[in-house]
Amino acid sequence: MLSDIHANLAALEAVLKHAEARKGLDLVWSLGDFVGYGPQPNEILELLRRYPLAGVAGNHDRAATGAIDRSEFNDDAAIANAWNARRLSEESTAFLRDLPEVLLDPAARAVCCHGSLRFPIWEYMYSDEAAVAQFERMSTPYSFVGHTHVPLVIEEPDASGEIDAFQPEDGELVQLGERRLILNPGSVGQPRDHDSRAAYALLDTEARTVTFSRVPYAIEKTQMLMREAGLPPRLIARLRVGR
Ligand code: ZN
Repeated sequence: MLSDIHANLAALEAVLKHAEARKGLDLVWSLGDFVGYGPQPNEILELLRRYPLAGVAGNHDRAATGAIDRSEFNDDAAIANAWNARRLSEESTAFLRDLPEVLLDPAARAVCCHGSLRFPIWEYMYSDEAAVAQFERMSTPYSFVGHTHVPLVIEEPDASGEIDAFQPEDGELVQLGERRLILNPGSVGQPRDHDSRAAYALLDTEARTVTFSRVPYAIEKTQMLMREAGLPPRLIARLRVGR
């Protein structure tokens, strides 16, 4: 389960290598924002397409293909998105354009989207209200979301109505059981939880576990390419601090 790769090839290579060393990968899920911010939009898509791949669209993907405009983006994000859009090959553009907003994976008993089932492209899963709305719309026990760039597990409220949520740490394993869950693997290409390491999660459908991992990668490699591309300095700097 990958999300928010944001055209960061060094980070993507690191997580795929890490995941493959742990388990053979049957399927790579990408929960949107393949592109934007980073310097290698075509390269990350070429690498991903060597795997059995399932994906959904994020706001940056939709903006890069012109399906939505960039007026909702802050200046740096808009500049980097436009830069990404100009570089996309025809094949990359077609791939992004064809991404659905929501995908169901019956084998994983999960539904996947970038933001939320209510507003797949835009909504951040920040509030209890958003989580409740998500659980109401889930026809499966689990949903995987991205968009916030922060790893998170939200448990369905029990009879008391209280929502339990926690930020899983590197190596943390969540056993899938009776309780329905919303899970966010964090961001591969631009983590925002003050940990600069790339984040992803491994879903084992046989053991019924989700393992969250953080993987160091050559941040300076991506930063150098961003500098060469003339991308906004603030976006270059934030990779080092992970926020
Ligand atoms: Zn994103």
